[in-house]
Amino acid sequence: MNAPQDAAAGPKPASLHTCRSNAAQAARLDFSDDSCFDEAQRGFVGSIPDARIATPDGRVVWDLSAFVFLESIESPDSVHPSLWRQARLNRIHGLFQVCDRLYQVRGFDIANITIIEGDSGLIIIDPLTVCEAAAAALALYRQHRGDRPVHTVIYSHSHADHYGGVEGVITPVQVARGEVRVIAPAGFMDAAIAENILAGVPMRRRAMFQFGPTLAPGPRSHVDCGLGKAMGRGTSSLIAPTQSITQPVERHTIDGIDIVFQLTPETEAPAEMNFHFPQLKVLNLAENGCHTMHNLCPIRGAKTRDALAWSKYLDAALQDFIDQTDVVIAQHHWPTWGRERARKFITEQRDLYRLMHDQTLRLMSHGQTPHEIAEGFRLPESLQKSWHARPYYGAVAHNVRAVYAHYMGPYDGNPVNLDPLAPQRAGTKYVEYMGGADALLARALADFDAGHYRWVVQVTHHLVFADPSNQRARQLAADAMEQLAYQSESSTWRNAYALGAKELRFGAPKPPPGNIGIVTPKVVAMLPMSMFFDFLAMRVDAAKAEGLQLRIDWVMQGEPERWKLTLSHSALSHALGSHGRDAMATVRLDRATLAGIVGGGGFAAAMQQGKIPIEGEVQALRQLLDTLDTFNPMFNILEP
Ligand SMILES: [Zn+2]
Repeated sequence: MNAPQDAAAGPKPASLHTCRSNAAQAARLDFSDDSCFDEAQRGFVGSIPDARIATPDGRVVWDLSAFVFLESIESPDSVHPSLWRQARLNRIHGLFQVCDRLYQVRGFDIANITIIEGDSGLIIIDPLTVCEAAAAALALYRQHRGDRPVHTVIYSHSHADHYGGVEGVITPVQVARGEVRVIAPAGFMDAAIAENILAGVPMRRRAMFQFGPTLAPGPRSHVDCGLGKAMGRGTSSLIAPTQSITQPVERHTIDGIDIVFQLTPETEAPAEMNFHFPQLKVLNLAENGCHTMHNLCPIRGAKTRDALAWSKYLDAALQDFIDQTDVVIAQHHWPTWGRERARKFITEQRDLYRLMHDQTLRLMSHGQTPHEIAEGFRLPESLQKSWHARPYYGAVAHNVRAVYAHYMGPYDGNPVNLDPLAPQRAGTKYVEYMGGADALLARALADFDAGHYRWVVQVTHHLVFADPSNQRARQLAADAMEQLAYQSESSTWRNAYALGAKELRFGAPKPPPGNIGIVTPKVVAMLPMSMFFDFLAMRVDAAKAEGLQLRIDWVMQGEPERWKLTLSHSALSHALGSHGRDAMATVRLDRATLAGIVGGGGFAAAMQQGKIPIEGEVQALRQLLDTLDTFNPMFNILEP
């Protein structure tokens, strides 16, 4: 980070308006209902102090001790009281027995690891984000329950917090030898890999605003991530599934445990599934039914999710499984015990997603645009009172905009928005029309004093983009964002506003030195080549490729396919096969070199070291590589 220009520049206290807003929110909610705290602690077996997890060489990857400030039941003025409650729940950690044969480790990562005792070994569902956390969770289980081997690993869905730690519980060798099965929903690998490749650079930068990893824990800064305390940091891995669930409903008996898999594609993740355990009377809703309103499009950016499908799969789970269910669990948060409580929980989750879907379509049909729908949307009182429907991770405003985008795309239908000026040019004009920077700031300051923070960030944004060196504009914008952070019930909004304030005050972080790896070498080892070529194609700088016509054959050592790449009109296409005699060059590459290239070493270095054998015109490959762009992973967001 840049050196602070003024160490006292933030975080600042909650304003009177924020204190009033948070107090009013507290008055609307029923904090006397402690059932979530009881359920989050029920079945506690044991834990490790502060859930502190370190690498073998002593580097700490997880430690909840910095969140000791959440001991206080009373929320501070600088945190939405409902988010404070959730942040306290997400601080509970350890091994918990859910029922006979089924355990969960919670609070060792943003996600849960679920451990089921089969007849001969363990069935592990979702081995967390990083290997260190998964290994620590399994060690904790074994310390209390004995040294049972892992029989099967199941991934509930294709997000990294549900598979990245797999090598903390099993090895690729065990899988290759057939000692351990790995089961996942259909389409898992493509979905797991695709989300982090093509849009990986902006998604990572934007994820900093969603999760707030550069914000210090504290009541005026980071308190939670809604689903859990924070994203795990450490060593990530990926072992490909040996078995896919492909039918809408599949029944299997795994090591003596009956499991009914219910595929739920295009819900919370492109590849996801729920599970029912009839013997145990447990229903696992993966991440389709958690103790929060989830995202129909997370603020890190993603393809929009299908709210209607999501609701329908929850309804199907309710119809098919509730009568043989005594407890509902998920891969985040704590269980819900009791059939009637479980029924109410799933019903409300079902209705929550259906409601946001249907009402957005209804309001669209009245001609309302995304911002208008978001401004006026209210959940029914009955849902507002349910803690699990509160927006700790998602938020109504961005979810209804996501439903709109899912059907209509980014354009709101008003021709005035077909081609607006980009922020810098628009900002300059706005500031000019408002009578200059000083006049704008005088009015913005009056609005700040009146507590109109949403408007203050909107209007100062024009001035910051017109003149990023205007410190008064930056400081006022930061102060307003900070108050919005303090008033946000959604943790992801809080993190985004708080980091926005920080970057307005101190600038964006400096990019780390060297090239940035998009994915780990382990992922590259399994990367479908077609996806790699798409990744290469999105790096072609059209201006640099102007006029080039290239035909290159590409062979991966030890792999049967041959690929032909064609660069024309600055666009790089690929297909199976060969250009034959028209090939200008043939490239031969092995996976290790490819991993080095994608992992950050780059093509130029690999070529210099003679690691890319080329037949034909070396110049053809060099010309292609010269068109490839590099990116600053810490690009500016709050300023041009
Ligand atoms: Zn998750």
